Amino acid sequence: MVTHSLGFPRMGLGRELKTALEAFFNGRLDGPGLETTAAALRLRHWTLQRDAGLDLVPVGDFSLYDHLLDAALLFGVVPERHGTTDGPVDLAAYFRLARGGRDARGAEVTALEMTKWFDTNYHYLVPEFAAGQTFRLAPERLLGQVREAVTAGFAPKVVLPGPLTFLTLGKAPDGVDRLTLLPGLLDAYAALLALLARECTWIELDEPILVQDLPRDVAQAFPDTYRKLVAAAAPAKVMLATYFGSIAHNLDCVAGLPLAALHVDLARAPEQLALVAKALAPETALSLGLVDGRNIWRVDAAAALARIDLAARHLGPDRLLLAPSCSLLHCPIDLAAETDLDPELRSWMAFAAQKCREVRLLADAAAPGGPDRPDVAEALAANRRAWESRRQSPRTQVAAVRARLSAITPAMFNRARPYPERARRQQAVLNLPPIPTTTIGSFPQTPEIRSARRRFKSGALSPDAYDAFLKTTLADAIARQEALGLDVLVHGEPERNDMVEYFGERLDGFCFTQNGWVQSYGSRCVKPPVLYGDVSRPGPMTVDMAVSAASLTEKPMKGMLTGPATILGWSFVRDDQPREVSRRQIALAIRDEVADLEAAGLRVIQIDEPALREGLPLRRKDWDLALALAVDDFRLATAVAKPETQIHTHMCYAEFNDIVPAIAAMDADVISIEASRSRMELLTAFADFAYPNEIGPGLYDIHSPRIPSVEEMETLLLRAAVVIPAERLWANPDCGLKTRTWPEVTAALTNMVEAARRVRR
Ligand code: GLN
Ligand code: ZN
Repeated sequence: MVTHSLGFPRMGLGRELKTALEAFFNGRLDGPGLETTAAALRLRHWTLQRDAGLDLVPVGDFSLYDHLLDAALLFGVVPERHGTTDGPVDLAAYFRLARGGRDARGAEVTALEMTKWFDTNYHYLVPEFAAGQTFRLAPERLLGQVREAVTAGFAPKVVLPGPLTFLTLGKAPDGVDRLTLLPGLLDAYAALLALLARECTWIELDEPILVQDLPRDVAQAFPDTYRKLVAAAAPAKVMLATYFGSIAHNLDCVAGLPLAALHVDLARAPEQLALVAKALAPETALSLGLVDGRNIWRVDAAAALARIDLAARHLGPDRLLLAPSCSLLHCPIDLAAETDLDPELRSWMAFAAQKCREVRLLADAAAPGGPDRPDVAEALAANRRAWESRRQSPRTQVAAVRARLSAITPAMFNRARPYPERARRQQAVLNLPPIPTTTIGSFPQTPEIRSARRRFKSGALSPDAYDAFLKTTLADAIARQEALGLDVLVHGEPERNDMVEYFGERLDGFCFTQNGWVQSYGSRCVKPPVLYGDVSRPGPMTVDMAVSAASLTEKPMKGMLTGPATILGWSFVRDDQPREVSRRQIALAIRDEVADLEAAGLRVIQIDEPALREGLPLRRKDWDLALALAVDDFRLATAVAKPETQIHTHMCYAEFNDIVPAIAAMDADVISIEASRSRMELLTAFADFAYPNEIGPGLYDIHSPRIPSVEEMETLLLRAAVVIPAERLWANPDCGLKTRTWPEVTAALTNMVEAARRVRR
């Protein structure tokens, strides 16, 4: 079985690419310096993959910023505002597309839009097609990398987005059907494949859109597209790769195509194996994505070998390839760097480097006589031991947590009183003016805050001194809010580096890596917490700070929590139980925190759920159930609150149209949402549905340094008041303010409070 990978993390174990990119952005590193770092990382990662036992190494997966941006440039898809280009663009133009900035004539040009890559936490840049877009091939960069690999003695497999995924993920002006661009794009692809065929034997075209619901015309375009591409690439072999789900519903797109191989994700969707195998043309091999490229756990070798066996019975052993399920981009690089991790937990994990070795191990173990090889037998035994220890560990199976889960009753999902009565009782306690003003939680994370946190973590600042620092910071934030005249105050979150990590660190069942970085976009990486076991809350997580803050003001203080869907969505989660079970455990922990905050005297509590929507399944038919379950967990986390306690939630994105009913079903008393950039247009979705509770549409775009004027925010509020009754309207920014400075925040909030006053009058 030929072994390969679909892509490798780009950053480097020491995040060398991040460092080099940021140095380049700051003018401390020149273009050749950046390219040298990039080439060194490619070479290191190819070597690592080959040494781990992969037969083919990917070329084209590396990017200085994003692979969709690279594909756009490969085919000359550059929006007009960035100037027309012939041939390769220089680094300045490349990063202008990625990040915006001034062009050669000094004019400010905006970047391409960025959006989430399927249901991962990676963001890609959205290619922008023009009406009548033409495609000009600029293959130099890619060909250079192929030659780099060949010269260094590797067997490269070029990895590219497939044309239908590329078109579908891009955006075109209103009224332009992207599919009309396909013939021109296909010519460019065909020319490219012909060039590549001179340099390498394998070309992988990624079509992850095949796991989604496809418009008919896109689905119908697959067979002809791939017949054409396969012919253009001859004698090189074309592999069509899919991942993140099953393609069983789109089998017609690929059935019988003359591909050299089809790759499917059997970590996410093992059930598709037999169906897909039956649909293959006799000359097509199946690439089995058995090692999960999206998570950090060891493969279950016994289960994977059973699937290989099944595939071999369908297709014969010679028609199989083996790989991780998807690109390893979504996974940290090397477990060997995790010297601080608890040894037992560590023995359950595999990062990108280990996953390449797992692919090798499975291939060896499936080969005739493989299990008799002492090294293979030994490695399989180690794999079995790790899984046994994981399955039986008292850390993954906590009896008390399980008992609590099974004791959940239907009543626990419902607030004691319906919203209209709650609203009356809350108003009696809170006594808020119409259109109350508030903020979303965080205030500027100043250099002082960051430095204090660093010194505390390194031990240079004692816990007492750090606590004293936080309390001073909090007092300052409260004084500022009172001076601004805000109605519902927040403590400002100075103690939180990250809204998920903070809670993960305070819950049992989570652990943290030292170097488990995963690229989020460009040079930005995140280090997700690892959820390994049953979740419980050893003690209150936020009460001390909330109570201190509340004691400093007469105004209502808003307790601030992160919701179960967001904690789950931004962590590596366990694969030994359904995600829903983990989320329910988190919901119970948050429920206890809500109860504790309430008992400590907090009358307003916000539970943020910015990840609720992005965690939705890739196929529409699965949404209702997924939403219902996520909403249930929010309700479980909050319904413990008394009718007098006002529950807020917050979400920061602008696409609500299709999920307003679910949002209403969360039954939060107040929801704050991002709305300023859509100029309140999205509120029509809430109006059409007749959203029954209170809403705070964002008035201030916190992503921009621009300060909106009083008049501007007044207009936005008045526009909102047309569709949402004024007595259910709040005034707040789009999101937390932690990335802004105090002068910006003070100016914007001064205007916001004044705008609310005017609208009130
Ligand atoms: N309470 C968080 C904050 O203000 C919310 C952040 C978010 O929605 N992403 O920072
Ligand atoms: Zn937000």
